[in-house]
Amino acid sequence: MTSPKETVGDTSGGPIRLLSFDLEEYFQVEAAAAKVAPGQWDAFARRLPAAVDRILELLESRGSSATFFVLGWVAQRQPELIRRIAGTGHEIASHGMGHAMVGRLTAEEFRQDLLASRGLLEDLTGRPVAGYRAPTFSITHQTAWALDVLAEAGFAYDSSIFPIRHDRYGVPDAPRFAHLATGPGGGQLLELPPLTMRAMGVNLPAGGGGYFRLLPLAVTRAAIGRAVRLGRPAMIYLHPWELDPLQPELPMSGLNRFRHRLGLARTESKLRSLLERCAFTSVARRLAEIRAGAMEVFRYGRGDR
Ligand SMILES: [Zn+2]
Repeated sequence: MTSPKETVGDTSGGPIRLLSFDLEEYFQVEAAAAKVAPGQWDAFARRLPAAVDRILELLESRGSSATFFVLGWVAQRQPELIRRIAGTGHEIASHGMGHAMVGRLTAEEFRQDLLASRGLLEDLTGRPVAGYRAPTFSITHQTAWALDVLAEAGFAYDSSIFPIRHDRYGVPDAPRFAHLATGPGGGQLLELPPLTMRAMGVNLPAGGGGYFRLLPLAVTRAAIGRAVRLGRPAMIYLHPWELDPLQPELPMSGLNRFRHRLGLARTESKLRSLLERCAFTSVARRLAEIRAGAMEVFRYGRGDR
């Protein structure tokens, strides 16, 4: 195993710009879940490897690294892909096994899913897995027990809580930047929320996914700039399928289709432009600094339900 390479964005003490990818296939998204069951996934042609190769080339050319939250289903079927990502200096973290939203699992099922995915990824890469991101940002006040399970399992950080109001996920009263998340059972771990902007009294998503595809790049740049000026980490997230405009159409409702396909053709060039001006890193490379920063404590599992 090659040792992780140094990248420009690793500059200790400098701005902490974090880049993350949720490593899953285009047919595993929640928007398609009503029409495409997990039992059907194996029937689809896999499109991840080509998209991942383009991402790895782009990161390499820009001297950036990233955290890849890997779905266990993908790691089981394409172990060489995970080893390739890890071998080029990026962080491998967990996205669970089967992409079920946390609220559909019992605490024990969630624990099993978590441990299975971590064991699989650690066996594949020979490195410890420190981070977790829930499918569809599905840790909310209602599912805050998941924080207790994560803390008990020894995860160093979580990145599953979106501090916005949304129909599928979100905790609008949660802190916008890195903080210590406490579950209803008292379990505590570092939480790294996706980047938001504060405007008109509400938190607006600015840090990835459909918002990154929809909004002008200037908005994302401005949100990153604000976080950097505050001395806080900025967390950007994307999916490889968002850089794959030629992916086949999926059966979806009109709204879900709009959300899923919006701006697909422009995502790669936007990401390229973003990486041209400044370097990004994985969480692992800056974890010690993030933890050392002044850290607010926030208790989940109460309030706005
Ligand atoms: Zn996902």
